[in-house]
Amino acid sequence: MAKKIAAGITLLGIVILAWYLISQRIAISWIDTQTTTPTATQTPIPGTKTSSLFEIGKAGKEQIWICPMHPEIMQNHPGTCPICGMDLVQSKNPAAHNHDHGVHIDTASIQKLGVRLESVKKTPLSQEIRTYGNVIVDGDTLYNVHTKVDGWIKKLNINSVGQQIRKGQIIYEIYSPDLIAQQKEYLRFVVRRDQTLKTIGDISPLVENPYVMDLLQELSRERTKFLHKDIGIESVQQMEDSKQAIEVVKILAGQAGVVTQINAREGNFVTPSATLFTLADVSKVWVDITLYPDQAGRVQNGDAVTIKTPDGQEIKTKLDFVNPLAENNKINARVTLNNTHLRLRPGSFVDVTIHAQPHEALVLPRSSVIHTGQGDLVILSRGEGHFLPVNIETGIESGDWIEVVDGLLEGAEVAVNGQFLLDAASSLQDAAQRMQESHKHQ
Ligand SMILES: [Zn+2]
Ligand SMILES: [Zn+2]
Repeated sequence: MAKKIAAGITLLGIVILAWYLISQRIAISWIDTQTTTPTATQTPIPGTKTSSLFEIGKAGKEQIWICPMHPEIMQNHPGTCPICGMDLVQSKNPAAHNHDHGVHIDTASIQKLGVRLESVKKTPLSQEIRTYGNVIVDGDTLYNVHTKVDGWIKKLNINSVGQQIRKGQIIYEIYSPDLIAQQKEYLRFVVRRDQTLKTIGDISPLVENPYVMDLLQELSRERTKFLHKDIGIESVQQMEDSKQAIEVVKILAGQAGVVTQINAREGNFVTPSATLFTLADVSKVWVDITLYPDQAGRVQNGDAVTIKTPDGQEIKTKLDFVNPLAENNKINARVTLNNTHLRLRPGSFVDVTIHAQPHEALVLPRSSVIHTGQGDLVILSRGEGHFLPVNIETGIESGDWIEVVDGLLEGAEVAVNGQFLLDAASSLQDAAQRMQESHKHQ
């Protein structure tokens, strides 16, 4: 009995699995046909017949639909105009339209000529303003280095403006009688501590002795004073270990930075009131951007900016500041950049592209637009090898794209590199004339 039940369950499992596989198989093949058919077989536009529009226009046998505003837009089925979006209206007198609009090329030739179609599409677009910028030190990060004691600089490790200084690096060595006196006083303290600890340590635990704790705390404070004089812990330890004052003391950099100014020389007597050096923190830098008035009129704070560094890296950032005042007919704008990897050297120039006036725009590939004396033309594809020159108004260009301000709607298909289509079938002038010819549409 139990065996029969087990066999029954197994059989049921196989049936479910088989059903699952079949259903998956069906689903996959259905998706395949959905996605591959349109590209593989060039499905005709619904409602169109195989006869070309060229033939329709010539023969005038079939019914045609025409845009009331753009009579060159005609087809053998209802639809909307790719130029203005209006519904096409049926012509009451198709025979009147017995001339050709545009160019017709058979499918084989289209393939042979490599005619490529591209749709007018909507995309974010901006005006690209190309200029240059000067990497400068962020003025807020400048700091001055002073000595904490009077003395003579015996050795100077800061030699040139632009030199990179690491935090903790020895920047100079000083001979200071004051500092030697302070060391000697500190050392007397250290000696007293050692003697006290030795004496008291023999009679009671040190941690519970208030006198010892006071002594240790005071010593710690004195030690910290030396460290605040930019004397490294190594020098303090050396002094404690040897019980000898150091005559020429090494002074360390309190912060990292780049040297922007040097006021001290080796052998100088220096005092705390004088600035020895000025350093700048270049982990952040400014890029000062120069704009001409016509460029400045188009940019504003917050515009996206691409900076190209001398080593070819691109940094994306935003415009921080546009100076409202011009100087020598030039306007200054600024971005702040993180420079933790120190790729940007203050004083160097960088290429700057400002992406101004960002907006949603209709665009076409630049290569699809033909510039003529009468304006810009594109070769509109009307399907089945029928092409029509159409005047468009173009806007800004960005990369490979050009904005279509007027003349075509989103989704209209044009020939990329359409120039030769015009050349092949008719001269540009003929085509333009044909566009402008008077019509007797009813
Ligand atoms: Zn129209
Ligand atoms: Zn016509």
